[in-house]
Amino acid sequence: MDVLERADLAFPASIREFQSLFPDDAACAAYLEQAQWPNGFACRHCGETGEPFRITTRPGILTCRACRRQHGLLKGTVMERSHTPLTVWFWAAYLVTSHTPGISAVQFQRQLGLTRYETAFAILHKLRAAMVRPDQDTIGGLPGTHVEVDETLIGGRTRGEGRGVHHKTLVACAVEVRQQQKANSAHPRRDGRYAGRIRLAQIPNRSGSSLENFVRSAVTPGAMIVTDDWSGYNGLSDAGFKHSPIAVCNEPEIADEFLPMVHLVFSNLKTWLKGIHHGVSDKHLQAYLNEFTFRFNRRFYPMNAFRSLLGIASTVPSPTYKALYSGNWHHPTSSGCMH
Ligand SMILES: [Zn+2]
Repeated sequence: MDVLERADLAFPASIREFQSLFPDDAACAAYLEQAQWPNGFACRHCGETGEPFRITTRPGILTCRACRRQHGLLKGTVMERSHTPLTVWFWAAYLVTSHTPGISAVQFQRQLGLTRYETAFAILHKLRAAMVRPDQDTIGGLPGTHVEVDETLIGGRTRGEGRGVHHKTLVACAVEVRQQQKANSAHPRRDGRYAGRIRLAQIPNRSGSSLENFVRSAVTPGAMIVTDDWSGYNGLSDAGFKHSPIAVCNEPEIADEFLPMVHLVFSNLKTWLKGIHHGVSDKHLQAYLNEFTFRFNRRFYPMNAFRSLLGIASTVPSPTYKALYSGNWHHPTSSGCMH
């Protein structure tokens, strides 16, 4: 069964509840054990189902009482080979998923009393690596929905080089626009339209091929797509999408009327990058886009976000701190492919 649908895996509704559910590493290990063996431990080597041996000092290891072989609860997860206590990892997953704006490495280091900034930074980046489903599907294409697509410049750090467009990066976004029942519309001004899922990716330039590559990786073929009238989008019809370009004529009001959701996403994204992370470098921007996407797409279901972060964590590779800085690690894009 999908880890998201597991009612036996508790989700804390508050910080107090979190503290009582996960007071120590043993409690975190018990949660991971429950996730792997919903019906109780069964040895993968000999099939023994009796209570395994547990070592207090190594809560991530279970030893079969029959064949004495060990089972690593952290094997294949982002926590594998980490010297950081499980409680710190669980706090990180909880804060990242339940706290609306997420958390910065500096804040995380302070709140958890970690000695090294690098530890906080590496934990958050490893969790970000777990935020992309390897089999992530495309958005849009459902009856009665359309997809807004647009691109924007995100300012990187200027590193004292003065104002201007230094280090700005182009980011493309696709937003699924859904229609709510008129009766319980939360946004009457938007005729009950609201944003469904999003996809965000860094793109090299505004050319037709860059934009089409992005759209192909993010949007279901045949979906209705609304864009502005930039010529880079001209090929979308030939690429198999229903394309509706809006003549914006450099008038922001027109753009806001026809592309309200994607503009809202860009505005929230920029505020978040600036406010929480004080700007990020190009090199790591995709990781932050992934985090923003992950939280946005699960904003109505924080408990699923927490579970899927721990659940997905067992299936994706994650970077080492060294790889992060050597430039050898490529953040997976929000479309799920490594680039
Ligand atoms: Zn065994």
